[in-house]
Amino acid sequence: MARYNGPVCRLCRREAMKLFLKGERCFTEKCAIEKRNFPPGQHGKARKPKIVGFGLQLREKQKAKRYYGVLEGQFRNIFKKASLTKGVTGDNMINMLERRLDNVLYRLGFGTSRNQARQIVRHGHITVNGRKCNIPSFVVRPNDVIEVAEKSKKNPTIISARDTTAHAPSPNWLEVDRENLKAKVLAIPRRDELVQIQLNEQLIVELYNK
Ligand code: SF4
Repeated sequence: MARYNGPVCRLCRREAMKLFLKGERCFTEKCAIEKRNFPPGQHGKARKPKIVGFGLQLREKQKAKRYYGVLEGQFRNIFKKASLTKGVTGDNMINMLERRLDNVLYRLGFGTSRNQARQIVRHGHITVNGRKCNIPSFVVRPNDVIEVAEKSKKNPTIISARDTTAHAPSPNWLEVDRENLKAKVLAIPRRDELVQIQLNEQLIVELYNK
């Protein structure tokens, strides 16, 4: 599946907030939001556009897409599924994004960023319920057991994952056994324990319902 390969700090600068796309660097003074908190591009500093209506909705959608590392097509599909699911569409959508396997690994601290977590999955280091799963968009369910594959437990990147919880404490809906690099999904995440960033999913719903 395709993914964004360009510079990521400019995505944060465009949204004027930290989206935590670069792992440890995001928590240091090297973060571009700390150093250059204005939009990217030649006229970034000069422009101060007032964003209203459609612009606000668009920015909110872009922010969510970038935060979770999904492209437009995938994002729209998630929205479609969310709107067909019982309940509030915005909540369902965030919930599905949050339960993606790459995001779950990031939440567990098994990757310093969603990109790293995604690579760990793609390289076949993860099993779900005892079966290898190399699909980052796989959506986990309650009682699923996520584990680092036996052969990968000595992999240096994975080993370093044992200590990467400082900035990302695992949420209550996940139970983690850090020593054995194993976790269990306890429940469907609640909306209030979902995101690190402020996100108004209602604006995204309005945008796609136009
Ligand atoms: Fe770059 Fe991370 Fe800072 Fe975003 S939060 S600007 S990705 S260092």
